[in-house]
Amino acid sequence: MTLAIMGAMEEEVEPLLERFENVKVTEIADNKYYETTYNGNNIVIAYSKIGKVNAALTATLMIEKFGAEKLIFTGVAGALNPKLKVGDMVVATKLIQHDVDITAFGHPWGFIPESGDFVECDAALVSKAKESAKAIGVDLLDGIIATGDQFIADSKKKDFIVDTYKADATEMEGASVAYVCKCMNVPFVVLRSISDAADMDAGFDFEEFLKSSAKTSADFCLKMLDNL
Ligand code: SAH
Repeated sequence: MTLAIMGAMEEEVEPLLERFENVKVTEIADNKYYETTYNGNNIVIAYSKIGKVNAALTATLMIEKFGAEKLIFTGVAGALNPKLKVGDMVVATKLIQHDVDITAFGHPWGFIPESGDFVECDAALVSKAKESAKAIGVDLLDGIIATGDQFIADSKKKDFIVDTYKADATEMEGASVAYVCKCMNVPFVVLRSISDAADMDAGFDFEEFLKSSAKTSADFCLKMLDNL
């Protein structure tokens, strides 16, 4: 099997790349893809750079050029659910693009005609994430992730996303990756560790906790690999 592991920022995949030897680097479309093997599987790793377009491009290339048959996203997110604190782990059950607005035509927020709104993660991979969490004693919250091309650091925007989508965490890539995987029939899951609370302190908290939370998520992802 070929498995794709992607993040958005270098900090999110660095802890993974450090663990592997014999990594082959290929450059395509202004980005680097790292291929290796683990537990008898081929693995392709990349960070897409920030945002939905970059993430969709990377996910598509991982599937089309590198033959990824399953995809795991690992990274950091802002907490919307007050239960979530910095360093906590979330696995998405489903994701939505919270910044899609064609409400002028009577469509609900987040909805795209002929495309839909929420995209569900692969149930088997979500179960694997939960099993891994149990095995290593990590409290893993399963919930809704809302994705948009916006760093949320404002209580009004945060409240809007919570009220509209009942989302538990917010970030800038997951739903676009989810949509690519759905269209291309590739089972996927999105794992995130909390870096901030998407509030007025989010910018500072993000800077402070990016590295540690990114590592928490990457380490969790590695544990999950042992369980796949
Ligand atoms: N500081 C960076 C920009 C980070 S953007 C720079 O200047 O280069 C935030 C990244 O972390 C995105 O990849 C997003 O997926 C995630 N993220 C963490 N907290 C977030 C929040 N509150 N709102 C949106 N995305 C968030």
